[in-house]
This record gives sequence, structure tokens and C-alpha cells, in this order.
Amino acid sequence: MGFVLVLVSMVLVLGCGDGEGKECTNQPTQSHTFRYHLLTSKNQTRKQEVMSHSRYHLTPIRNMSLNEEQEEEEEGQDDDWTMLYGRMKMKKEPEGLLKEVSLHDVRLHGGSIHGQAQNTNLKYLLMLDVDRLIWSFRKTCGLPTPGTPYGGWEDPTIEVRGHFVGHYLSASALMWASTHNEELKKKMSALVANLSICQQKIGTGYLSAFPSEFFDRFEAIQYVWAPYYTIHKIMAGLLDQHSIAENPQALKMVTWMVDYFYKRVRNVIRKYSIDWHYQTLNEETGGMNDVLYRLYSITGDPKHLLLAHLFDKPCFLGLLAVKANDIAQFHANTHIPVVVGSQMRYEVTGDPLYKEIGTFFMDIVNSSHSYATGGTSVNELWSDPNRMIETLKETNNEESCTTYNMLKVSRNLFRWTKEISYADYYERALTNGVLSIQRGTEPGVMLYYLPQGPGASKAISKFGWGTQFNSFWCCYGTGIESFSKLGDSIYFEEEGKNPSLYIIQYISSSLNWKSAQIMLNQTVVPPSSMDSFLRISLTFSPTKKTSSTSSTLNLRLPTWTHIHGAKLTLNSDTLPLPSPGNFVSITRKWSGSDKLTLQFPIPLRTEAIKDDRPEYASIRAILYGPYLLAGHSTADWDIKTASNASITDWITPIPAIYNTQLFSFYQHFSGSSFILTSLKNSLTMKKSPKPGTSLALHATFRIINIQAKHSSRISTTLRDFIGKSVMLEPFDLPGTQVGSVFVLVSGLDGRNESISLESKSHKGCFVHSGMSSGKEVKIRCKSNSDADASSFNKDASFIARRGLRKYDPISFVAKGANRNFLLEPLLAFRDEHYTVYFNIQE
Ligand SMILES: [Zn+2]
Repeated sequence: MGFVLVLVSMVLVLGCGDGEGKECTNQPTQSHTFRYHLLTSKNQTRKQEVMSHSRYHLTPIRNMSLNEEQEEEEEGQDDDWTMLYGRMKMKKEPEGLLKEVSLHDVRLHGGSIHGQAQNTNLKYLLMLDVDRLIWSFRKTCGLPTPGTPYGGWEDPTIEVRGHFVGHYLSASALMWASTHNEELKKKMSALVANLSICQQKIGTGYLSAFPSEFFDRFEAIQYVWAPYYTIHKIMAGLLDQHSIAENPQALKMVTWMVDYFYKRVRNVIRKYSIDWHYQTLNEETGGMNDVLYRLYSITGDPKHLLLAHLFDKPCFLGLLAVKANDIAQFHANTHIPVVVGSQMRYEVTGDPLYKEIGTFFMDIVNSSHSYATGGTSVNELWSDPNRMIETLKETNNEESCTTYNMLKVSRNLFRWTKEISYADYYERALTNGVLSIQRGTEPGVMLYYLPQGPGASKAISKFGWGTQFNSFWCCYGTGIESFSKLGDSIYFEEEGKNPSLYIIQYISSSLNWKSAQIMLNQTVVPPSSMDSFLRISLTFSPTKKTSSTSSTLNLRLPTWTHIHGAKLTLNSDTLPLPSPGNFVSITRKWSGSDKLTLQFPIPLRTEAIKDDRPEYASIRAILYGPYLLAGHSTADWDIKTASNASITDWITPIPAIYNTQLFSFYQHFSGSSFILTSLKNSLTMKKSPKPGTSLALHATFRIINIQAKHSSRISTTLRDFIGKSVMLEPFDLPGTQVGSVFVLVSGLDGRNESISLESKSHKGCFVHSGMSSGKEVKIRCKSNSDADASSFNKDASFIARRGLRKYDPISFVAKGANRNFLLEPLLAFRDEHYTVYFNIQE
């Protein structure tokens, strides 16, 4: 590891104890999942065993806890200490980085998919209660604790309690900037004010939902669950409250916290060694370096810079500095924030080494450790590069908080380089890795893992879907932030003589472009499979009557499109376009009557899994522009295509009108509602399921009017089908049918709204639920005896309603080797089983 230390310009002494070499890790056994289970385990022997794992055999430092009086005396020597550990090369801040626009100036259009996701999250943030959130903070500082604490990872027995509160501070600041919701503002201000009371009560600057004794254990390298990870969230949250929500109290609070931790770190190094300090960083510390660099950029206090440097984990960043793709077995979400922090180091010091580190890291993750979603990790770790097939055996793929952090990495790289590939990555990971983790529009139901194997389901992993008040996982924390800042990477500004704007995401929104004195409105036609173009229009409202300057718009042409059919028009003029992977720039004095429209093709394409062994070359994902298309499947993933077939030969779009042919069939018995369901090629009656479940999918059928099949007339209401010969197609098995051909007739029970399905080949025989007699669903023939006529009629009559499941506007059918696959964007799935990858053989 010697070279690593040299590379990060640290003066270190290698002080290995007997038999214990240095290590650089966050050990594989120590995923968050593992630690949560350990903490909540009743097995004391097992707990003891793990907590005394070899990593903790190092002799603990005695008397490591912070001694306040001693600190006062040593204050005067601080300059020396800062000199010794802080002799960092200060360079000039880099120039030419794109500037982020304020979220206060961006508004998402409500009806868009992004607007809806934001609104779902806003609802969740408003559901959470301040007293419940800060219960453990009050307990820790000895204040009365009204209300009850939340559960999950915020439970008072869980060592990372309080981490979600930090995220909430960030998320609410971001969401307030995005919406100016006053109720949220009151909530977040109350939260900051009450946290301040706790901090005052403790009086040292320390602020946490757990006692400072956790840091004694951390510093002594004894078992404890990531206390700095949680402190980072609280500090970052307070900093966001300051810089985004303009709460001046929050900056004082975070600065006081940093004073406290500065002394602690200084104490560890003084009393023991810097090597010991770096060994403590093997325990997850979140983005401590990141928040400290950010704080330094506000305060300019060299102590903040020094402390930030001391959280740049040398043994990990060193690997990246020598460009070694050796991140396998590292805990992904421990280390991505360290990289994000090192990116901030580049931004505040201009040291190009940290630009290189971030660039190399993104390269290796993107080229050899990521799924087609843009996400990464399995069981929270990175696995071997270009061996991603192995990870499909697991359900615990792509921990969602890693996506949140990778988005930060790529966003920074984009701001530094203006390279389209980083914007493309951002779009892919946001579309598939972020929008996929909310369960429809249910507030507070989100994912930890996003499974990627054949037959996967979001509902089936170690965690499945979370709950509103009893989950609060790491990924809930990052989740509420992600959905609060969906507008933060659409627009970037470039400083220069004239205003210049980069539009890198096509998301329906408006921007108050202050430097150009223009209100810009971006409208994106929601993409669908039937129209294979992305269509964007931009309109302009000057905010001053006499706009003096001209300004430049730079529009991204993603690498995934092609120029065939692409078109840019300004009012009635067609403008030339560069090739995909470039920006098109237009400079002009924009007026209120200007309209700029851009359209470009959304091609279907396949992309190989990141596995470089030739035998797996056929394992591929299918994408439609940035949308990853998953196939409805419980395991099958085989597709066979003709040799040299073009992709449109075996994938065809589903017309939106098919949605009007989707129906579900109900019967009511003993006060409950039952529904006709197709499971494993046979029909059964099941209790009516919740939307989004697999059962809801299996209870949805497309009624195909056989006579109209080859005519242009498509039936759209159930009345149109009466008396017609129809087939019932299970929703997820396009091209197949349930049973034989039926004639759809008015319900035998004589009720207005009911229908019956009579066998075409056996007149007088009907789909019969058997519900009255507890029998199975079957085609049964009506006997002439009057005795059971009414129960027969009842069992053979169904209320048909609109299908429980609808096709996503982006839906396709892919011809499979054994069956056809219904493809929909991964973000449209809730509990239904899917496959992300297909085995596509020629
Ligand atoms: Zn997580």
C-alpha cells in the first residue's frame, strides 16, 4: 500500500502491529442488511462472535474519549497541528465548470411522469411528523420525548438512527425549492429549530440521535454501525437547509458540529497516530469529505479543508489514482460517496488528481460493473468486473442508494467536461434506477434493491417494498432526496459574456432563466411505442420588456439516437443538426413569439450484459432510447431471431387503443369480490387483488374480436363485443388465448351490466366459476332442469370492468423462442415478475 500513500500526498508511517496487517475495506459481511439483522438478532452468541471479528482484535486505545478540559489547553497548539497534517497543495479552483441552476427556478410540469413522482414524494414528506422524527435526538440530549419513535432503521435500538432525519433535512430543502410548499417549509423549519434545541442542550456541538459513546467505539475500532455515516447525513442536511432553504441557523449548527468532530479526529491522531485514524475509516463514513469540502467552500476555514482531507480514504482513492479496476468486494455505497467527496476536492482545490480519480471511477463502474439500468452492486458490493452474469443469480441487485450517488458522480463529470456520455448516463440511471423505485403513486413505498435476474420482481428481494413508517433504510433516505431534486439536472448554465444554457435532460418543465431574462418552457410529448420520436418544444417569455442581449441554447442530442428523421425547427425555419452525441447550439435574441422544436428518433436497440466471456454474448437487454424494457416473465428469457433480422422484425409496438380492450371479470359471493384469473394455463377465481400485484396482472385479459381482427374497426366498449366471437388473451402472454373461442353474450343472470362467455363450439356451455358449489372454473353446459338454473346462471355471469392492469404507453411485443414477451419499461412494473435480460440467439 506504500504507493497509495505517496499518491495521495500524505505523510504516513506504516505502523503494523504484530500479526495484523493493514487492510482497506468495509468488510463483505458488513452490508447494512447484515448489520440490521445483527442488531435485531436475538442470538447473543452469534452477536458476540461477529462483534469480536478479527478486524476488531486490534488493541483498543485506552481513554480515547474526548476530554473537554484538555482540549481547551491544547487549543493554542492548533496551528502546528494544522501545519503538520494540513500541508496540502492549494491550487486554483478549476475554471469553466458549468454552473447548476437553482431548483427555486425550475418547475416540473405536474402531469409528467417526473412531476407525478415528485408529487408522490411531497405527499410522503408531508406525512412524516417532526416529533416522531426527532424522538431519539430528544432522548439522547435528555429532553422530553412527545409522540412515539418511528420504526425500521429509525427505531431507538438501531445504531444508525437519525440518518433518515439528516436525509429529511436535505430532501425537504430540495423539495421546498422545487415546489415552495408552505406546509413543508413549516415542517422543516420546526425540525431545524428543535434539533438546535437539542444541540444547545448537549452544549459541545455534538448533535445526534445516538450518544457520543458510539464514536468512542469507532475510534477504538470496536464494533459499531457507521456513526459518521449518520453524522454526514445530518451535516449535509443542515448545510442544504442553509444553502438551499436559506436557514441561517443551520449553518451555525453544522459549523459547531464540525468543531466538535475536528477535535475528536485531532485527538485520535495526537493520542495515537494518523495511521490509526485512517484505519478507523474502514468503518463506513458516508460522504464526510464531501460535506466538509462543501462547507469549506462556504466558510473558507482551513480547518474545514483539513478535516475534509482527513476523510479522503487513502487506501480506496489510491487504487483509483493508479487506475486499478480493483473495486470488487468493496461495499459500493460506502465508497461512492468518498469518490463524490474527492470530486469536491477537485472543485475546491483544482488538484487534477481528483478529476482523474472521478473520471476513472465512472469509467470502470460504467463499463464493467453496471446493469443496463445504469445501476450497480450485488448484495451491496461490487463484484468482479465484466462478470455480471454471476450476479443475476441474486435478487439483491442494484442497491438504490448507490444509484443516487452515481448520479452525483456523473453530474459532476458532466459539469466539468460537457461530455454527452455523462448526460446519457444520468438520463439512463434516473429513468430506470430512480423512477423505478417508487411503487406507482403510493407515497412512502420504495425499494432497497432493484432485482435484475430472469423472473425477478421488485417485491421479492431481501427487503421488497418498504413501508411508510417502518423501513427508513439508507435507500429511503436517498430516495426522498432523489424525488425532491428531479429538476436539478435538466439545465446548466455556462458563464461567459452572453448567457448560455445547456439543456441535458428532456423533462417537461419551466425555467426562470434569470441571466437571460427569459422564462423558458420545455414541453416533451410523453414517449410512446407507437411514435418512435422524442418531440420537444421550447417557448420563451422574456421577463423584461426590452431584452437587450442574445443568449445561447445548447440542446443535447443523445448518443442513442440517430440523425435519420431528426429535425430542429425555429419558427418556420429548419436548422442544421450535428450528429448524435453532440450539442446543437442556437444563439439569438429570443422573443415571446419564438418556438423551437426538436424531434429525434427513439430507436430500439439491444445491449450486451457487462460480461466479457464469449459464451454470454447473447445475454442482452432491450432498450427504447433511455428506457430499459423488461419482459413479463417468471423465468423464460429465450428469444430466437432469424439471422440478420433487424430488431423491428421481432419487436412490434402495442397500439394504445388495445388498452380499451382490457377487461377483468368479477363475481360477488358472501360479501367478497372475486375475479377470474389465469394462472399456469388454467382459470381460477381469486379474491380481488390490489393493483400492481401479479394477481392483478393475471386477472386482466384482452378481449379480441375475431371478426374484427383483420378489419380496421377496433372494438372499444364492451357493448361492441356482445354477440361477437372473441378470444381472451392473458395480459402477459400476447398471442396466446385462454381456452377456446367464446361468444360474448349478455349475462345469463339477466343483470344489466353482466356478461357470459359461451363456448363457440359447444353452444349452451359457458365459462362457469363453480363458486356456488365450491368447484373449479370450467366450461359447463347448462342442463334443462330448473332446479339449479339460478345458481348456474349466477356462476356463469361476470361483471366486466376495465382491466386491473393497463399497457404502459411504451409497450411492445417481442417474439420469443417459446412464447411472446410483453415488454414494458422497468419503471412501469410494481410487483409483477420480469426479466431485464434476454438470451437472444440468432
Ligand atoms: Zn441503500
